[in-house]
Amino acid sequence: MTTAALDQKFVLSSYGRNSTSFIEGKGAKLYDEHGKEYIDFASGIGVSSVGHGNPLLTEAICTQAKALIHTSNLQVIAPQAELAERIVTLSGYDMRCFFGNSGAEANEAAIKIVRKYGETHFEKKRYKVITLEHSFHGRTITTVKATGQDSFHSPHFSPYPDGFSYVNEIDAVYDQIDEETVAVLIELVQGEGGVQPFDKVEIQQLARTLKERGVLLIVDEVQTGIYRTGAFLASQLYEIEPDVITLAKGLAGGVPIGVAMTSLKDIFEPGDHGSTFGGNFLSTRAGLAVLEILEREQERGVLAERITEFNAHLTGLEKSYPALFGAHVGLGLMLGLRATSSEVQQKVLATAFEAGVIVLKAGRNTVRFLPPLTITREEINEGFKRFEKAIAAL
Ligand SMILES: *Cc1c(COP(=O)(O)O)cnc(C)c1O
Repeated sequence: MTTAALDQKFVLSSYGRNSTSFIEGKGAKLYDEHGKEYIDFASGIGVSSVGHGNPLLTEAICTQAKALIHTSNLQVIAPQAELAERIVTLSGYDMRCFFGNSGAEANEAAIKIVRKYGETHFEKKRYKVITLEHSFHGRTITTVKATGQDSFHSPHFSPYPDGFSYVNEIDAVYDQIDEETVAVLIELVQGEGGVQPFDKVEIQQLARTLKERGVLLIVDEVQTGIYRTGAFLASQLYEIEPDVITLAKGLAGGVPIGVAMTSLKDIFEPGDHGSTFGGNFLSTRAGLAVLEILEREQERGVLAERITEFNAHLTGLEKSYPALFGAHVGLGLMLGLRATSSEVQQKVLATAFEAGVIVLKAGRNTVRFLPPLTITREEINEGFKRFEKAIAAL
């Protein structure tokens, strides 16, 4: 049986997959089973932050795997403690970390943190969390409920937990707050929703107002975190101090990991929360290697250069193909072109893939770019050469 046939027969059909199967990667290049080369402008979905086959990351993983992959969280785990220290230091916030294995788990932990706060700090229990329309926070029953898109709240999986409500803009948060509201959960750049950054002044106003009203701010940096927007955290670019921040996608370069970090440093006691695999030797060692690579990339100014170059290409495309693209949106290397329709979006994705460049969709009509943060200038140029050739025929 071919791989695609095995997949169809034995794997549940929860993804709309095409039958391509990659077998190897190097930097921002991927190769399928027929030897065809692709430029990866997607990084999985914002995961392969240091590219494919990165020698420092693979070396760190192999060395750690030979020594020790896993112990339980009932003992101290050295790379977990070290990674927590690195994350907190790079963030500049006075926080502590909880480790899980995914973005959804990071957000679950964040919700537990704020709910415990709401239960223990007020006479009348506070538990409600306000989120934004077009947001995305995960696929577990709770995080899918936190996601502000009706299409995700299928009756197939109901009933969902109580306590989540949505507003269509930041300004609408204020009226939504009641005496049971414990937190507001937002992305600073809505990724799945369409690569839409919020206005900095509006976010600063929100952070200030929430602080005054005693409502916590959770920032979901599962996609924006780990240098994706050019800074270690988007929260730093927005110059705010959230109460809880969640991380996942790019943190360990493809090894599953998730983090909820909080300034409520003493919120949990033993037994409040846990994860069998969370923060184990393998994933946290990978996280340390990724941070070392990306920290250097940023300090040397390479990341900033790549952001400028990538944006220049998108500006060029936006100008040259007004029939296909409207605005060019995003922050750092989390970028999008607004297609003029969802049909155009679909066609661009399909023809680009055919031409050997992988891009993603976001929202109804956005073509999304999440390249590895270590992508080279040559890879960017080659990717856009293929992309333009593909769309010129549309
Ligand atoms: C991807 C994503 C998630 C979910 O992460 P998983 O690892 O798939 O659970 C949550 N929030 C945001 C902003 C994301 O982009």
